[in-house]
Amino acid sequence: MDDNKIAEYGEKLKQLGIKNEVLKHPHLVKPIEVVTYLGQTLADSAATLLFIADGQPITLIRRDDVKISFSKVKKLLGIKDLRIASQEEFVKITGLPVGAARHYLPGVKQTIIDKKVFEKEYVLGGTGSFQHTIRLKSEDLKKLPNSSVTDIIEDDIAISQGLSGNKIKRVFSGIRATGRLHLGNYLGAVKGFLELEKTGQYETIYCVVDVHSITTPYKPEALRKNKREIIIDYLAAGLDPQKSLIIYQSDIPQHTELAFYFSTAETVARMQHLPTFKDKVKQYPHNVTMALLNYPILMAADILVYKTELVPVGIDQEPHLEVTREIARKMNQEYGMNFPEPIRFATKGSYVPSLSGEGKMSKTVEGSFINLTDSADVIRKKVRSVPTATTSGGEMNPGVKTLFAFADLFISSEVEKYKKDFENGTLQFVTLKDAIADAVYKELQPFQKKREEIIKDQAYIDKVIKEGAEKARSIASQTVAEVKEKMGLS
Ligand code: ADP
Repeated sequence: MDDNKIAEYGEKLKQLGIKNEVLKHPHLVKPIEVVTYLGQTLADSAATLLFIADGQPITLIRRDDVKISFSKVKKLLGIKDLRIASQEEFVKITGLPVGAARHYLPGVKQTIIDKKVFEKEYVLGGTGSFQHTIRLKSEDLKKLPNSSVTDIIEDDIAISQGLSGNKIKRVFSGIRATGRLHLGNYLGAVKGFLELEKTGQYETIYCVVDVHSITTPYKPEALRKNKREIIIDYLAAGLDPQKSLIIYQSDIPQHTELAFYFSTAETVARMQHLPTFKDKVKQYPHNVTMALLNYPILMAADILVYKTELVPVGIDQEPHLEVTREIARKMNQEYGMNFPEPIRFATKGSYVPSLSGEGKMSKTVEGSFINLTDSADVIRKKVRSVPTATTSGGEMNPGVKTLFAFADLFISSEVEKYKKDFENGTLQFVTLKDAIADAVYKELQPFQKKREEIIKDQAYIDKVIKEGAEKARSIASQTVAEVKEKMGLS
């Protein structure tokens, strides 16, 4: 279904008074895949089900984490016969592909909405396309013509809100060792890793992608030091080696081996057109190497060597995940492999801006970051360096905006007060800066304390790295053996 038809549907809803937002995503059929991709749970998704009630089509809207109670619906409508519409009936009545029902179906005369839907302020719903999902205020669903709200679900909710019972299982993510971890990595990535680990529902593999770090100019000594520091940071943040594999990419040679086999599935032109490649060429015009061009192929190998299905990374990595899915499809079609097509897992991480006021906080941009191990004094000095203005009031410049973004993240309850002071022209920037610096330091205190404990036991760190690598190699070598066999190499 093309984008125009989806936009038309969005417009139609607006005419009914239902404001909405259309979200685009890769082709995803199962509700669990869609909600996971969008960083939501099944409880945030309101599905429309087409039923035949005594010969008449009706729709029932219920959350995706509950089940319809046939007896409740029959009693409510005073009917004898209730069944789910057949696929042929669905297509005939809705004109949509099976499994892609919309909340508003003009061919249907009655819509019953389960009251649990309204426990969530916003819900997701179908659009008729497997590449689009609509998001709307649940209250607005009451504006659907001929709709009513009541309790139509089974009382014992059996379906989990998470991913248990579903096939989705393995999680992989990595961070490059191009510097020490900073506040952005911590809030945007590592906290999400931890959240996933804590659910106990996935096999989590967290990697320091040291081979990826050599695709841009680097110093061997710094790399050697940084990569170990990141493992220590992972442990200090609370990742548990009993629950997650914590590994160096270069300890598992199957990543690079598989990357070479995968490089047969992509063209040079495809890689050269990736926005991430173009950015790096601009950044390092004298380092346009084969390794750089192969970056996405190696990332596909990192992910697929473990047959990973979920990848918690930032939105900037989406083009690389598309390449990964492309490779998975090609390997499956060409050689009969069974690679999953992995999707991005949007954890509830926060975006942390650069201290310079321009772009994001990044390891590779000097002056942009606060390291996780920075002392109270260093943090204070760095926050004080955010370029603000001499007087407050008027339009906010990028530095002031950055400062307020930090305030939202770390001293949210006081933001309004500081904003008022800014508007009145009475804000002393240094007061706000110091309040932020103190809060950042406080947030990092438990991490820093734990880190101090961990570094006292270097043998423990060695053991984590060694055991992680052994376990990872045993999974990865099976995948590589299978690929070699299917590709005619063994
Ligand atoms: P960097 O730009 O510092 O080198 P990476 O590209 O290695 O960071 O990213 C590692 C992880 O940290 C990714 O999942 C990315 O989305 C996340 N991340 C990096 N910078 C930020 C930021 N400023 N705010 C939030 N998340 C970030």
